[in-house]
Amino acid sequence: MSGAQMVERITRVVIAGGGTAGWMTAAAMARALGPEVSVTLVESEEIGTVGVGEATVPPLHDFNGMLGIDENDFVRQTQATFKLGIEFVDWGRIGARYIHPFGPIGRDIGGLKFHQLWLRHRLLGGPEADIGRIEDYCLSAVAARQGRFARPSPDPATVLSSLAYAFHFDAARYALFLRGYAEKRGVRRIEGRIASVERDAETGFLLALALEDGRRVEGALFIDCSGFRSLLLGEALGVGYRSWQRWLPCDRAIAMPSESAGPPLPYTRSTAGPAGWRWRIPLQHRVGNGHVYSSAHLSDEAAHRELTNGLDSPACGEPRMLRFEAGRREKFWDRNCVAIGLSSGFIEPLESTSIHLIQSAIFRLMALFPDTGFDRVEIDAYNRWLTREYELVRDFIILHYHAGERDDSAFWHHCRTMDLPDSLATKIDLWRGKARLLREQHDLFTEDSWCAVLMGQDIMPRGCDPLVLAMPLQETGRFLVNLRERIAITAAAMPSHGEFIARHCAA
Ligand SMILES: Cc1cc2nc3c(=O)[nH]c(=O)nc-3n(C[C@H](O)[C@H](O)[C@H](O)COP(=O)(O)OP(=O)(O)OC[C@H]3O[C@@H](n4cnc5c(N)ncnc54)[C@H](O)[C@@H]3O)c2cc1C
Repeated sequence: MSGAQMVERITRVVIAGGGTAGWMTAAAMARALGPEVSVTLVESEEIGTVGVGEATVPPLHDFNGMLGIDENDFVRQTQATFKLGIEFVDWGRIGARYIHPFGPIGRDIGGLKFHQLWLRHRLLGGPEADIGRIEDYCLSAVAARQGRFARPSPDPATVLSSLAYAFHFDAARYALFLRGYAEKRGVRRIEGRIASVERDAETGFLLALALEDGRRVEGALFIDCSGFRSLLLGEALGVGYRSWQRWLPCDRAIAMPSESAGPPLPYTRSTAGPAGWRWRIPLQHRVGNGHVYSSAHLSDEAAHRELTNGLDSPACGEPRMLRFEAGRREKFWDRNCVAIGLSSGFIEPLESTSIHLIQSAIFRLMALFPDTGFDRVEIDAYNRWLTREYELVRDFIILHYHAGERDDSAFWHHCRTMDLPDSLATKIDLWRGKARLLREQHDLFTEDSWCAVLMGQDIMPRGCDPLVLAMPLQETGRFLVNLRERIAITAAAMPSHGEFIARHCAA
Protein backbone atom coordinates (compact mmCIF):
# COMPACT_ATOMS: atom_id res chain seq x y z
CA MET A 1 0.00 0.00 0.00
CA SER A 2 1.35 3.44 -0.74
CA GLY A 3 1.08 6.19 1.84
CA ALA A 4 0.01 8.71 -0.83
CA GLN A 5 -3.49 7.40 -1.53
CA MET A 6 -6.58 7.23 0.65
CA VAL A 7 -4.92 6.79 4.01
CA GLU A 8 -7.47 6.36 6.76
CA ARG A 9 -7.53 5.71 10.47
CA ILE A 10 -7.62 2.11 11.54
CA THR A 11 -10.93 1.34 13.19
CA ARG A 12 -10.90 -2.44 13.39
CA VAL A 13 -8.23 -4.39 15.24
CA VAL A 14 -8.37 -8.18 15.44
CA ILE A 15 -6.33 -10.09 18.00
CA ALA A 16 -5.80 -13.80 17.31
CA GLY A 17 -5.31 -15.59 20.64
CA GLY A 18 -6.28 -15.03 24.26
CA GLY A 19 -3.26 -16.01 26.33
CA THR A 20 -1.27 -13.51 28.35
CA ALA A 21 -0.16 -11.77 25.13
CA GLY A 22 -3.65 -11.52 23.67
CA TRP A 23 -5.30 -10.19 26.80
CA MET A 24 -2.46 -7.79 27.65
CA THR A 25 -2.75 -6.37 24.14
CA ALA A 26 -6.54 -6.20 24.32
CA ALA A 27 -6.47 -4.45 27.72
CA ALA A 28 -3.88 -1.91 26.56
CA MET A 29 -5.78 -1.18 23.36
CA ALA A 30 -9.07 -0.84 25.20
CA ARG A 31 -7.41 1.74 27.39
CA ALA A 32 -5.39 3.63 24.80
CA LEU A 33 -7.27 3.57 21.49
CA GLY A 34 -10.59 5.12 22.41
CA PRO A 35 -14.11 4.08 21.46
CA GLU A 36 -13.78 4.66 17.69
CA VAL A 37 -11.53 1.63 17.36
CA SER A 38 -13.22 -1.75 17.76
CA VAL A 39 -11.05 -4.49 19.21
CA THR A 40 -12.07 -8.12 18.70
CA LEU A 41 -10.22 -11.06 20.24
CA VAL A 42 -10.63 -14.61 18.99
CA GLU A 43 -9.56 -17.49 21.19
CA SER A 44 -10.22 -21.16 21.55
CA GLU A 45 -10.79 -22.71 24.95
CA GLU A 46 -10.36 -26.10 23.34
CA ILE A 47 -6.79 -25.20 22.31
CA GLY A 48 -6.07 -23.39 25.57
CA THR A 49 -3.03 -21.33 26.51
CA VAL A 50 0.55 -22.21 27.35
CA GLY A 51 -0.52 -21.69 30.98
CA VAL A 52 2.91 -20.84 32.43
CA GLY A 53 4.56 -17.43 32.70
CA GLU A 54 4.25 -16.51 36.34
CA ALA A 55 7.31 -14.43 37.19
CA THR A 56 7.78 -10.85 36.07
CA VAL A 57 10.21 -7.92 36.14
CA PRO A 58 9.67 -4.44 37.64
CA PRO A 59 8.67 -2.56 34.45
CA LEU A 60 5.31 -4.35 34.76
CA HIS A 61 4.47 -1.43 37.07
CA ASP A 62 4.42 0.78 33.97
CA PHE A 63 1.91 -1.51 32.30
CA ASN A 64 -0.30 -1.65 35.40
CA GLY A 65 0.05 2.12 35.71
CA MET A 66 -1.02 2.63 32.12
CA LEU A 67 -4.12 0.51 32.75
CA GLY A 68 -4.74 2.39 35.99
CA ILE A 69 -5.30 -0.76 38.03
CA ASP A 70 -5.16 -0.91 41.80
CA GLU A 71 -2.14 -2.97 42.83
CA ASN A 72 -3.64 -4.61 45.92
CA ASP A 73 -6.68 -5.63 43.91
CA PHE A 74 -4.46 -7.04 41.18
CA VAL A 75 -2.38 -9.02 43.72
CA ARG A 76 -5.53 -10.41 45.38
CA GLN A 77 -7.20 -11.46 42.15
CA THR A 78 -4.15 -13.17 40.67
CA GLN A 79 -3.00 -14.90 43.91
CA ALA A 80 0.20 -12.92 43.47
CA THR A 81 3.23 -12.49 45.69
CA PHE A 82 6.01 -9.92 45.55
CA LYS A 83 9.32 -10.63 43.84
CA LEU A 84 12.54 -8.88 44.85
CA GLY A 85 14.82 -10.77 42.49
CA ILE A 86 15.99 -14.25 41.58
CA GLU A 87 18.18 -16.51 43.67
CA PHE A 88 20.55 -18.56 41.53
CA VAL A 89 21.65 -21.83 43.10
CA ASP A 90 24.43 -24.02 41.66
CA TRP A 91 25.00 -21.67 38.76
CA GLY A 92 28.65 -20.70 38.31
CA ARG A 93 29.67 -23.68 40.44
CA ILE A 94 27.87 -26.34 42.45
CA GLY A 95 27.17 -25.07 45.96
CA ALA A 96 27.25 -21.37 45.03
CA ARG A 97 24.26 -19.07 45.62
CA TYR A 98 23.69 -15.49 44.65
CA ILE A 99 20.79 -13.13 44.16
CA HIS A 100 20.18 -11.08 41.08
CA PRO A 101 18.14 -8.40 42.82
CA PHE A 102 15.91 -5.70 41.43
CA GLY A 103 16.87 -2.15 42.22
CA PRO A 104 20.21 -0.42 42.60
CA ILE A 105 23.29 -1.97 44.14
CA GLY A 106 24.98 0.59 46.38
CA ARG A 107 25.15 4.24 45.48
CA ASP A 108 27.36 5.84 42.86
CA ILE A 109 29.55 8.66 44.15
CA GLY A 110 31.25 11.44 42.29
CA GLY A 111 30.19 9.99 38.95
CA LEU A 112 31.86 6.66 39.78
CA LYS A 113 29.92 3.43 39.71
CA PHE A 114 29.42 1.80 43.09
CA HIS A 115 30.71 -1.57 41.96
CA GLN A 116 34.04 0.06 41.15
CA LEU A 117 34.38 1.24 44.75
CA TRP A 118 33.52 -2.15 46.12
CA LEU A 119 35.85 -3.84 43.71
CA ARG A 120 38.75 -1.64 44.60
CA HIS A 121 38.45 -2.75 48.23
CA ARG A 122 37.99 -6.33 47.19
CA LEU A 123 40.96 -6.38 44.81
CA LEU A 124 43.40 -4.09 46.54
CA GLY A 125 42.37 -4.48 50.15
CA GLY A 126 41.81 -1.62 52.49
CA PRO A 127 41.45 -0.79 56.13
CA GLU A 128 38.08 -2.59 56.26
CA ALA A 129 38.83 -6.27 56.51
CA ASP A 130 35.33 -7.40 55.58
CA ILE A 131 33.39 -5.65 52.83
CA GLY A 132 30.88 -8.50 52.43
CA ARG A 133 29.22 -9.53 49.18
CA ILE A 134 28.11 -7.01 46.64
CA GLU A 135 24.48 -8.03 47.22
CA ASP A 136 24.78 -6.82 50.84
CA TYR A 137 24.61 -3.32 49.34
CA CYS A 138 21.24 -3.82 47.70
CA LEU A 139 18.12 -3.50 49.84
CA SER A 140 16.06 -5.81 47.60
CA ALA A 141 18.66 -8.58 47.99
CA VAL A 142 19.03 -8.18 51.76
CA ALA A 143 15.25 -8.09 52.26
CA ALA A 144 14.86 -11.13 49.99
CA ARG A 145 17.36 -13.15 52.05
CA GLN A 146 15.40 -12.28 55.20
CA GLY A 147 12.00 -13.03 53.62
CA ARG A 148 10.82 -9.45 54.11
CA PHE A 149 8.82 -7.03 52.01
CA ALA A 150 7.48 -3.47 52.17
CA ARG A 151 6.60 -1.04 49.45
CA PRO A 152 9.37 1.46 48.65
CA SER A 153 9.25 4.86 50.27
CA PRO A 154 8.50 7.81 47.97
CA ASP A 155 11.18 9.83 49.84
CA PRO A 156 14.41 9.51 47.80
CA ALA A 157 16.48 10.40 50.88
CA THR A 158 15.58 7.06 52.52
CA VAL A 159 17.18 3.69 51.92
CA LEU A 160 13.67 2.23 51.59
CA SER A 161 13.17 4.24 48.40
CA SER A 162 15.75 1.97 46.72
CA LEU A 163 13.61 -1.16 47.03
CA ALA A 164 12.39 -2.43 43.67
CA TYR A 165 9.98 -5.28 43.07
CA ALA A 166 7.92 -7.20 40.57
CA PHE A 167 5.32 -9.96 40.99
CA HIS A 168 4.76 -13.66 40.79
CA PHE A 169 1.18 -14.46 39.73
CA ASP A 170 -1.06 -17.24 38.56
CA ALA A 171 -0.92 -17.06 34.75
CA ALA A 172 -4.50 -18.26 34.21
CA ARG A 173 -5.87 -15.74 36.71
CA TYR A 174 -3.80 -12.96 35.18
CA ALA A 175 -5.33 -13.60 31.75
CA LEU A 176 -8.81 -13.68 33.37
CA PHE A 177 -8.10 -10.45 35.24
CA LEU A 178 -7.09 -8.70 32.04
CA ARG A 179 -9.99 -10.22 30.17
CA GLY A 180 -12.41 -8.73 32.72
CA TYR A 181 -10.69 -5.36 32.35
CA ALA A 182 -10.75 -5.43 28.55
CA GLU A 183 -14.33 -6.69 28.15
CA LYS A 184 -15.58 -4.03 30.56
CA ARG A 185 -14.03 -1.46 28.22
CA GLY A 186 -15.62 -2.78 25.06
CA VAL A 187 -13.33 -5.52 23.73
CA ARG A 188 -15.41 -8.19 21.97
CA ARG A 189 -14.39 -11.78 22.60
CA ILE A 190 -15.19 -14.52 20.11
CA GLU A 191 -14.88 -18.14 21.13
CA GLY A 192 -13.87 -20.19 18.13
CA ARG A 193 -11.13 -21.98 16.28
CA ILE A 194 -9.30 -20.16 13.51
CA ALA A 195 -9.21 -22.47 10.48
CA SER A 196 -7.50 -20.20 7.96
CA VAL A 197 -6.45 -16.65 7.25
CA GLU A 198 -7.73 -14.72 4.20
CA ARG A 199 -5.24 -12.50 2.37
CA ASP A 200 -5.53 -9.92 -0.38
CA ALA A 201 -4.28 -11.59 -3.54
CA GLU A 202 -2.39 -8.51 -4.70
CA THR A 203 -0.84 -7.01 -1.55
CA GLY A 204 -0.71 -10.07 0.66
CA PHE A 205 -2.33 -8.04 3.44
CA LEU A 206 -4.53 -9.97 5.86
CA LEU A 207 -8.27 -9.46 5.34
CA ALA A 208 -10.05 -11.79 7.76
CA LEU A 209 -9.78 -14.78 10.05
CA ALA A 210 -11.97 -17.66 8.89
CA LEU A 211 -13.26 -19.70 11.81
CA GLU A 212 -14.00 -23.43 11.69
CA ASP A 213 -17.74 -22.83 12.10
CA GLY A 214 -17.81 -20.59 9.00
CA ARG A 215 -17.74 -17.18 10.70
CA ARG A 216 -15.35 -14.51 9.34
CA VAL A 217 -13.67 -11.86 11.46
CA GLU A 218 -12.51 -8.93 9.34
CA GLY A 219 -10.00 -6.32 10.40
CA ALA A 220 -7.55 -3.69 9.23
CA LEU A 221 -4.79 -4.47 11.73
CA PHE A 222 -4.16 -8.01 12.97
CA ILE A 223 -2.24 -8.90 16.12
CA ASP A 224 -0.93 -12.45 16.15
CA CYS A 225 -1.06 -13.69 19.74
CA SER A 226 -1.60 -17.31 18.75
CA GLY A 227 1.37 -18.67 20.71
CA PHE A 228 4.23 -20.83 19.45
CA ARG A 229 2.33 -21.71 16.25
CA SER A 230 2.36 -18.15 15.02
CA LEU A 231 -0.72 -18.71 12.88
CA LEU A 232 -0.73 -15.31 11.19
CA LEU A 233 2.83 -14.02 10.96
CA GLY A 234 4.58 -17.38 10.72
CA GLU A 235 2.07 -19.59 8.91
CA ALA A 236 -0.04 -17.20 6.83
CA LEU A 237 2.64 -14.63 5.99
CA GLY A 238 5.56 -17.07 5.98
CA VAL A 239 7.89 -14.95 8.12
CA GLY A 240 10.78 -17.21 9.08
CA TYR A 241 12.23 -18.08 12.48
CA ARG A 242 15.82 -17.36 13.47
CA SER A 243 16.97 -20.05 15.88
CA TRP A 244 19.32 -19.29 18.78
CA GLN A 245 19.55 -22.89 19.88
CA ARG A 246 23.32 -23.08 19.42
CA TRP A 247 23.65 -20.62 22.32
CA LEU A 248 20.56 -21.62 24.24
CA PRO A 249 20.26 -25.40 23.88
CA CYS A 250 17.38 -25.87 26.34
CA ASP A 251 14.34 -26.82 24.28
CA ARG A 252 11.88 -28.42 26.71
CA ALA A 253 10.20 -27.69 29.97
CA ILE A 254 8.06 -29.64 32.39
CA ALA A 255 5.84 -27.51 34.62
CA MET A 256 4.28 -28.83 37.81
CA PRO A 257 2.51 -27.02 40.67
CA SER A 258 3.04 -27.99 44.29
CA GLU A 259 1.37 -27.11 47.56
CA SER A 260 2.46 -24.02 49.44
CA ALA A 261 5.20 -24.83 51.93
CA GLY A 262 5.26 -22.17 54.60
CA PRO A 263 5.15 -18.43 54.02
CA PRO A 264 5.93 -17.47 50.42
CA LEU A 265 9.48 -16.35 49.65
CA PRO A 266 9.72 -12.90 48.06
CA TYR A 267 11.88 -14.14 45.20
CA THR A 268 12.08 -16.70 42.43
CA ARG A 269 14.59 -19.52 42.82
CA SER A 270 16.48 -20.98 39.90
CA THR A 271 18.54 -24.11 40.60
CA ALA A 272 20.90 -25.34 37.92
CA GLY A 273 21.06 -29.08 37.21
CA PRO A 274 23.20 -31.24 34.91
CA ALA A 275 21.36 -30.18 31.73
CA GLY A 276 19.25 -27.13 32.55
CA TRP A 277 17.61 -25.60 35.58
CA ARG A 278 14.53 -25.71 37.78
CA TRP A 279 12.33 -22.78 38.71
CA ARG A 280 10.40 -22.28 41.92
CA ILE A 281 7.82 -19.50 41.95
CA PRO A 282 5.89 -18.96 45.21
CA LEU A 283 2.27 -17.83 44.87
CA GLN A 284 -0.30 -17.29 47.61
CA HIS A 285 -2.19 -20.53 46.98
CA ARG A 286 0.53 -22.80 45.54
CA VAL A 287 4.08 -22.94 44.25
CA GLY A 288 4.85 -23.02 40.53
CA ASN A 289 7.72 -25.35 39.62
CA GLY A 290 9.31 -26.32 36.38
CA HIS A 291 12.36 -27.83 34.81
CA VAL A 292 13.87 -26.29 31.68
CA TYR A 293 16.33 -28.65 29.99
CA SER A 294 18.09 -29.65 26.82
CA SER A 295 16.58 -32.76 25.25
CA ALA A 296 19.92 -33.46 23.57
CA HIS A 297 21.47 -33.90 27.04
CA LEU A 298 18.66 -35.24 29.24
CA SER A 299 15.76 -37.64 28.68
CA ASP A 300 12.22 -36.54 29.52
CA GLU A 301 12.03 -39.26 32.21
CA ALA A 302 15.22 -38.05 33.89
CA ALA A 303 14.03 -34.44 33.67
CA HIS A 304 10.73 -35.37 35.27
CA ARG A 305 12.50 -37.30 38.03
CA GLU A 306 14.82 -34.39 38.77
CA LEU A 307 11.87 -32.02 38.97
CA THR A 308 9.83 -34.19 41.36
CA ASN A 309 12.86 -34.99 43.53
CA GLY A 310 13.56 -31.28 43.87
CA LEU A 311 10.02 -30.30 45.01
CA ASP A 312 9.92 -29.10 48.59
CA SER A 313 6.20 -29.85 49.00
CA PRO A 314 3.75 -32.40 47.50
CA ALA A 315 2.74 -31.91 43.86
CA CYS A 316 -0.84 -30.66 43.41
CA GLY A 317 -1.34 -31.01 39.66
CA GLU A 318 -0.31 -33.00 36.65
CA PRO A 319 3.02 -32.37 34.94
CA ARG A 320 2.80 -30.40 31.73
CA MET A 321 5.36 -30.81 28.93
CA LEU A 322 6.29 -27.90 26.67
CA ARG A 323 8.61 -27.86 23.68
CA PHE A 324 10.25 -24.77 22.26
CA GLU A 325 13.18 -23.43 20.35
CA ALA A 326 14.94 -20.27 21.47
CA GLY A 327 14.85 -17.60 18.80
CA ARG A 328 12.80 -14.92 17.17
CA ARG A 329 10.84 -14.23 14.01
CA GLU A 330 12.85 -12.58 11.23
CA LYS A 331 10.37 -9.72 11.50
CA PHE A 332 7.88 -8.89 14.22
CA TRP A 333 5.67 -6.77 12.00
CA ASP A 334 4.92 -7.60 8.37
CA ARG A 335 2.27 -5.82 6.25
CA ASN A 336 -0.78 -5.34 8.53
CA CYS A 337 0.17 -8.03 11.03
CA VAL A 338 2.17 -7.66 14.26
CA ALA A 339 3.15 -10.72 16.29
CA ILE A 340 3.21 -10.28 20.06
CA GLY A 341 4.09 -12.96 22.61
CA LEU A 342 5.26 -16.47 21.83
CA SER A 343 4.24 -16.05 18.18
CA SER A 344 7.07 -13.51 17.85
CA GLY A 345 9.84 -15.47 19.52
CA PHE A 346 10.91 -17.09 22.73
CA ILE A 347 13.82 -16.84 25.11
CA GLU A 348 13.68 -19.25 28.01
CA PRO A 349 12.24 -17.88 31.26
CA LEU A 350 15.50 -17.72 33.26
CA GLU A 351 15.10 -13.99 33.85
CA SER A 352 11.30 -13.83 33.43
CA THR A 353 11.52 -11.69 30.31
CA SER A 354 8.72 -12.91 28.02
CA ILE A 355 5.89 -10.97 29.60
CA HIS A 356 8.15 -7.93 29.58
CA LEU A 357 8.77 -8.38 25.86
CA ILE A 358 5.00 -8.53 25.35
CA GLN A 359 4.61 -5.27 27.26
CA SER A 360 7.45 -3.66 25.36
CA ALA A 361 5.98 -4.71 22.01
CA ILE A 362 2.62 -3.23 23.03
CA PHE A 363 4.16 0.09 24.09
CA ARG A 364 6.21 0.32 20.92
CA LEU A 365 3.21 -0.55 18.76
CA MET A 366 1.23 2.21 20.47
CA ALA A 367 4.11 4.62 19.84
CA LEU A 368 4.00 3.74 16.14
CA PHE A 369 0.30 2.99 15.78
CA PRO A 370 -0.33 2.81 12.03
CA ASP A 371 -3.00 4.13 9.72
CA THR A 372 -4.10 2.19 6.65
CA GLY A 373 -1.00 3.48 4.82
CA PHE A 374 1.19 1.14 6.93
CA ASP A 375 4.23 3.34 6.53
CA ARG A 376 7.26 1.21 5.73
CA VAL A 377 9.65 3.43 7.63
CA GLU A 378 7.61 2.97 10.81
CA ILE A 379 7.37 -0.78 10.38
CA ASP A 380 11.13 -0.96 9.87
CA ALA A 381 11.74 1.16 12.98
CA TYR A 382 9.51 -1.16 15.01
CA ASN A 383 11.32 -4.24 13.74
CA ARG A 384 14.72 -2.74 14.51
CA TRP A 385 13.64 -1.81 18.06
CA LEU A 386 12.27 -5.23 18.87
CA THR A 387 15.18 -7.06 17.26
CA ARG A 388 17.71 -5.22 19.39
CA GLU A 389 15.66 -5.69 22.51
CA TYR A 390 15.38 -9.44 21.92
CA GLU A 391 19.11 -9.72 21.22
CA LEU A 392 20.04 -7.90 24.42
CA VAL A 393 17.84 -10.21 26.49
CA ARG A 394 19.33 -13.19 24.64
CA ASP A 395 22.88 -12.07 25.50
CA PHE A 396 22.03 -11.64 29.16
CA ILE A 397 20.57 -15.14 29.34
CA ILE A 398 23.55 -16.68 27.54
CA LEU A 399 25.83 -15.00 30.08
CA HIS A 400 24.34 -17.13 32.88
CA TYR A 401 25.20 -20.33 31.05
CA HIS A 402 28.59 -19.33 29.79
CA ALA A 403 30.08 -17.53 32.79
CA GLY A 404 31.26 -19.61 35.70
CA GLU A 405 33.15 -22.79 36.27
CA ARG A 406 30.66 -25.59 35.76
CA ASP A 407 32.07 -28.28 33.53
CA ASP A 408 30.52 -31.33 35.17
CA SER A 409 28.37 -32.53 32.24
CA ALA A 410 28.36 -32.44 28.44
CA PHE A 411 25.74 -29.70 28.67
CA TRP A 412 27.88 -27.39 30.82
CA HIS A 413 30.96 -28.19 28.78
CA HIS A 414 29.11 -27.04 25.68
CA CYS A 415 27.97 -23.83 27.41
CA ARG A 416 31.44 -23.01 28.71
CA THR A 417 33.20 -23.55 25.41
CA MET A 418 30.65 -22.29 22.86
CA ASP A 419 31.37 -19.26 20.68
CA LEU A 420 29.45 -16.24 21.91
CA PRO A 421 27.56 -13.59 19.94
CA ASP A 422 30.09 -10.77 19.30
CA SER A 423 27.98 -8.29 21.28
CA LEU A 424 28.22 -10.45 24.41
CA ALA A 425 31.88 -11.38 23.96
CA THR A 426 32.78 -7.66 23.85
CA LYS A 427 30.76 -6.98 26.99
CA ILE A 428 32.50 -9.75 28.93
CA ASP A 429 35.94 -8.58 27.75
CA LEU A 430 35.19 -5.05 28.92
CA TRP A 431 34.15 -6.41 32.30
CA ARG A 432 37.16 -8.69 32.69
CA GLY A 433 39.54 -5.76 32.14
CA LYS A 434 38.44 -2.91 34.41
CA ALA A 435 34.86 -3.89 35.27
CA ARG A 436 33.43 -1.60 32.64
CA LEU A 437 29.71 -1.91 31.97
CA LEU A 438 28.23 0.12 29.18
CA ARG A 439 24.47 -0.11 29.08
CA GLU A 440 23.01 -0.06 25.61
CA GLN A 441 19.83 1.70 24.68
CA HIS A 442 16.90 -0.78 24.74
CA ASP A 443 18.63 -3.06 27.25
CA LEU A 444 16.07 -4.10 29.86
CA PHE A 445 18.91 -4.99 32.20
CA THR A 446 20.75 -2.23 34.02
CA GLU A 447 24.47 -2.15 34.74
CA ASP A 448 23.62 -3.38 38.24
CA SER A 449 21.92 -6.45 36.79
CA TRP A 450 24.92 -7.30 34.64
CA CYS A 451 27.19 -6.70 37.62
CA ALA A 452 25.09 -8.94 39.91
CA VAL A 453 25.24 -11.88 37.51
CA LEU A 454 28.89 -11.43 36.54
CA MET A 455 29.99 -11.19 40.16
CA GLY A 456 27.48 -13.82 41.26
CA GLN A 457 29.11 -16.24 38.87
CA ASP A 458 32.58 -15.25 40.10
CA ILE A 459 33.77 -13.47 36.99
CA MET A 460 36.14 -11.13 38.79
CA PRO A 461 37.78 -8.38 36.72
CA ARG A 462 41.55 -7.99 36.72
CA GLY A 463 41.40 -4.36 37.78
CA CYS A 464 39.10 -1.44 38.35
CA ASP A 465 38.51 2.06 37.04
CA PRO A 466 41.74 4.08 37.53
CA LEU A 467 39.67 7.07 38.59
CA VAL A 468 38.46 5.22 41.66
CA LEU A 469 42.06 4.83 42.84
CA ALA A 470 42.26 8.57 43.30
CA MET A 471 39.70 8.46 46.11
CA PRO A 472 40.95 8.23 49.70
CA LEU A 473 40.79 4.58 50.71
CA GLN A 474 39.71 5.23 54.29
CA GLU A 475 36.85 7.41 53.15
CA THR A 476 35.51 4.88 50.68
CA GLY A 477 35.93 2.16 53.31
CA ARG A 478 33.81 4.13 55.76
CA PHE A 479 31.23 4.78 53.05
CA LEU A 480 30.91 1.05 52.41
CA VAL A 481 30.52 0.20 56.09
CA ASN A 482 27.87 2.89 56.65
CA LEU A 483 25.87 1.98 53.60
CA ARG A 484 25.85 -1.72 54.42
CA GLU A 485 24.71 -0.96 57.96
CA ARG A 486 21.91 1.34 56.87
CA ILE A 487 20.64 -1.25 54.43
CA ALA A 488 20.74 -3.99 57.06
CA ILE A 489 18.85 -1.81 59.57
CA THR A 490 16.22 -0.86 56.97
CA ALA A 491 15.68 -4.49 55.96
CA ALA A 492 15.39 -5.64 59.58
CA ALA A 493 12.60 -3.11 60.18
CA MET A 494 10.46 -4.40 57.29
CA PRO A 495 7.57 -6.83 57.91
CA SER A 496 7.84 -10.39 56.70
CA HIS A 497 6.56 -10.96 53.17
CA GLY A 498 3.73 -13.15 54.53
CA GLU A 499 2.68 -10.48 57.04
CA PHE A 500 2.68 -7.78 54.38
CA ILE A 501 0.43 -9.81 52.09
CA ALA A 502 -1.91 -10.77 54.94
CA ARG A 503 -2.25 -7.12 55.93
CA HIS A 504 -2.71 -5.58 52.48
CA CYS A 505 -3.62 -7.97 49.71
CA ALA A 506 -4.41 -11.54 50.75
CA ALA A 507 -6.43 -13.38 48.08
C1 LIG B 1 8.21 -23.17 30.28
C2 LIG B 1 7.86 -21.73 30.18
C3 LIG B 1 7.94 -20.91 31.31
C4 LIG B 1 7.66 -19.54 31.21
N1 LIG B 1 7.82 -18.74 32.30
C5 LIG B 1 7.69 -17.40 32.16
C6 LIG B 1 7.91 -16.51 33.24
O1 LIG B 1 8.18 -16.92 34.36
N2 LIG B 1 7.79 -15.20 33.02
C7 LIG B 1 7.47 -14.69 31.80
O2 LIG B 1 7.43 -13.47 31.63
N3 LIG B 1 7.18 -15.51 30.78
C8 LIG B 1 7.30 -16.83 30.92
N4 LIG B 1 7.02 -17.65 29.89
C9 LIG B 1 6.46 -17.08 28.66
C10 LIG B 1 4.98 -16.83 28.86
O3 LIG B 1 4.33 -18.01 29.27
C11 LIG B 1 4.37 -16.32 27.57
O4 LIG B 1 5.12 -15.24 27.09
C12 LIG B 1 2.97 -15.83 27.82
O5 LIG B 1 2.20 -16.80 28.46
C13 LIG B 1 2.32 -15.44 26.53
O6 LIG B 1 1.91 -16.53 25.78
P1 LIG B 1 1.03 -16.24 24.51
O7 LIG B 1 -0.18 -15.50 24.92
O8 LIG B 1 1.91 -15.65 23.48
O9 LIG B 1 0.65 -17.71 23.98
P2 LIG B 1 -0.41 -18.77 24.53
O10 LIG B 1 -0.57 -18.74 26.00
O11 LIG B 1 -0.02 -20.07 23.91
O12 LIG B 1 -1.79 -18.30 23.90
C14 LIG B 1 -2.13 -18.56 22.58
C15 LIG B 1 -3.59 -18.24 22.37
O13 LIG B 1 -3.90 -18.44 21.00
C16 LIG B 1 -5.06 -19.22 20.90
N5 LIG B 1 -5.03 -19.97 19.64
C17 LIG B 1 -3.99 -20.67 19.11
N6 LIG B 1 -4.38 -21.25 17.95
C18 LIG B 1 -5.68 -20.89 17.76
C19 LIG B 1 -6.63 -21.18 16.75
N7 LIG B 1 -6.36 -21.96 15.72
N8 LIG B 1 -7.87 -20.65 16.88
C20 LIG B 1 -8.19 -19.86 17.93
N9 LIG B 1 -7.32 -19.56 18.91
C21 LIG B 1 -6.08 -20.07 18.82
C22 LIG B 1 -5.03 -20.11 22.12
O14 LIG B 1 -6.30 -20.62 22.43
C23 LIG B 1 -4.53 -19.13 23.16
O15 LIG B 1 -5.61 -18.37 23.63
C24 LIG B 1 7.25 -19.01 29.97
C25 LIG B 1 7.10 -19.85 28.86
C26 LIG B 1 7.40 -21.18 28.95
C27 LIG B 1 7.25 -22.06 27.74
